[in-house]
Parts: sequence; structure tokens; C-alpha cells
Amino acid sequence: MIKAIRIHTTGGPEVMKWDDVPRPEPVPGEALIKQEAVGLNYIDVYFRSGLYKAPSMPLTIGQEGAGSVIAVGPGVTNVKPGDRVAYAGSLGGYATERVIAADRLVKLPDSIDFRTAAAMMLQGMTAQYLIRRTYRVKEGDTIVAHAAAGGVGLILCQWAKYLGATVIGVVSTEQKAELARAHGAAHTVIGHANLAAEVKRITGGAMVPVVYDSVGKDTWNASLDSLAPLGLMVSYGNASGPVPPFDIGVLSAKGSLYVTRPSLATYTAKREDLEKVAGELFEVVSKGVVKIAVNQTFPLKDAAAAHIALEARKTTGSTVLLP
Ligand code: NDP
Repeated sequence: MIKAIRIHTTGGPEVMKWDDVPRPEPVPGEALIKQEAVGLNYIDVYFRSGLYKAPSMPLTIGQEGAGSVIAVGPGVTNVKPGDRVAYAGSLGGYATERVIAADRLVKLPDSIDFRTAAAMMLQGMTAQYLIRRTYRVKEGDTIVAHAAAGGVGLILCQWAKYLGATVIGVVSTEQKAELARAHGAAHTVIGHANLAAEVKRITGGAMVPVVYDSVGKDTWNASLDSLAPLGLMVSYGNASGPVPPFDIGVLSAKGSLYVTRPSLATYTAKREDLEKVAGELFEVVSKGVVKIAVNQTFPLKDAAAAHIALEARKTTGSTVLLP
């Protein structure tokens, strides 16, 4: 038997149970891995609460981990027993061991330890596609990033600064503002009530070509109001709740704006894209350009406490669950 945090129904953190589960066997195309570290992500909250629909019940939530391959099923050639691997974006993560489609695994460079890998695969690959593909951040850009002291946020701030951008980070407290500045945000704004006015002041009226908004419902209007004409609203998360239906005419009235609602799944669906996105992340982390802040760890069996902290906005940077 192995241990896994499973939900049998959706709801609050209390629905997560530390269950005994039969040890899975890898079928053709799969690998069995022993997980040394598991990543905590906001998407885990969405699956637990029911905002995102569970494919089946009971469900082992979690989308990210790092560990060693124990065995592979028939036909698997990209990894072998003993390999150090990591992944993001495959449900079934909150477990001591798990099977996974082998083509979703990437091999870890020796320089990246399991905790760092589990902390960065999902949030770091997200930061990569957001600033390298959804909108390609370039030297001289000024950009807005919400939840700038969070998991995706701290990575995005560092990476965008490295690319030559001026980051305006939005956070909820002075302590988080300090942290965001220490990780590359040139400016910080506390709360979103005066965001557009602050962006106007900082940019001398020009506003910004892109807003990365992971907060959703609460910040939608403030984000649109911070964009320059033809600017791109990247609405990539719902920490405060999903953005309600809106009148598309608003985009015209606010300056012929663009909106996208991207997901990591689309940007890493092809194997070649997964390798490129992960490869760029490994490069900036190995070079020390991006430092992964593992600011909280919890035993995996205490995942409920980790969810409570995340939802209460008590965490900063990345959080790792230890099997
Ligand atoms: P974070 O570490 O960023 O935690 C969420 C943060 O959101 C909080 O710390 C808080 O920062 C902020 N926040 C604002 N309003 C609320 C609220 N009402 N309740 C809770 N938090 C709030 O999490 P992650 O780095 O794991 O994820 C960041 C976001 O990015 C999430 O929305 C997630 O869904 C999204 N995401 C999207 C992906 C995609 O491909 N589309 C992939 C990965 C993540 P503060 O206190 O400073 O406001």
C-alpha cells in the first residue's frame, strides 16, 4: 500500500483524507515514481473546492512532484528506474508514490534538488510561458504582475527583471511588498483600489502593455484600467473567484484591448513545448538568475494545513509538501 491525500467529495480543507491506497502498477507508457517532494499550487484548491471539476472520485489531488523512477511500463524509453525526474500538470500528485504518463516527465539536472523541483515546475513553467510566449516581455517594458509575492509571482518578478522589464508588483501587505522588491519588482502597489492611478503615475501616463492577473474577480477592472491602448490582459487565475461574464464592448471602450485566459496545459501539451519550457526554466534556475523561494514546507499528510495557509494569503513564494 501507499499513502495519498484524496478527496471523496468537494469542499473545504477538511475533505482531504490521508488514505491507504493500493500501490499502482505502470501500464504501457507509464512510469511509477517515488515522490521525494510534492508541490502545492492554487489549482489544488480549485479541485478540492469544486471550482474545477474532478474527473472522478475519490481523487488524489495535486499536479506537481519530483522524485525517482522506480519502474516503467512497456514501451517507455525516455526514462528508466533510478532517474531523477519531475513533472507538473498531472493530477495524482499528493501521494508517496504515483504512476504518470512517462512523456510528461522531465529529467532533472544534478544541480536541481527535489524540493526545488517540486516548488518550481508548475509555477516556474507558468512564469515561462506567460512572459516568454503569451506576451513576450522585452527590454524596456513596464509590466504589472498581481500576487507578486506568491509562488508564480516571485519567479515572474525575477525573470521579467532579467529580461530587462520594470515590474510593478501588486500585493496585499507591506511585508509582501518588501519581498517582491527583493525579488526584482521595481515598484510595488498594496491593494488594487488605486492600481490604475499608481500605474499612471509610475509610467508617466503611458500605462502598461500587459497585466498578468492571477487574482480574477476582484482585480479584473483595475487590471483593464491599467493597460495602454491595444494592451493585453492575461487573466491566468482565480484566487479571489472567477471573473464574471463581461460585456466585450468594454474592451473597445478601454482602448481596443486584448484578453487571454491561458493555461499551462495548452502551452506544454506537445512534448517539444514541454521540453523547451522546462529547459528554459532549468537554465535560469541553474544560472541563479531565478531563485526558487521555498518559504513553507508541510508534511504531505498535513496538506489541509497547507491549503488553509494558502487560501488565507499567509504563504509567500512556493510551498512544498513532504511525503
Ligand atoms: P500564490 O502563491 O500566488 O497564492 C495566491 C495569492 O493570491 C495569495 O498569496 C494572495 O496574494 C493573492 N490573492 C489575492 N486575492 C486573494 C484571495 N481572495 N484569496 C486568496 N489569495 C488571494 O499561488 P500560486 O503561485 O500557486 O498561483 C498563483 C495564481 O496563478 C493562482 O490564481 C493560480 O490559479 C494561477 N495559476 C495559473 C496557471 C495557469 O496556467 N493558468 C498555472 C499556475 C498558477 P496577496 O496577499 O499578495 O494578494
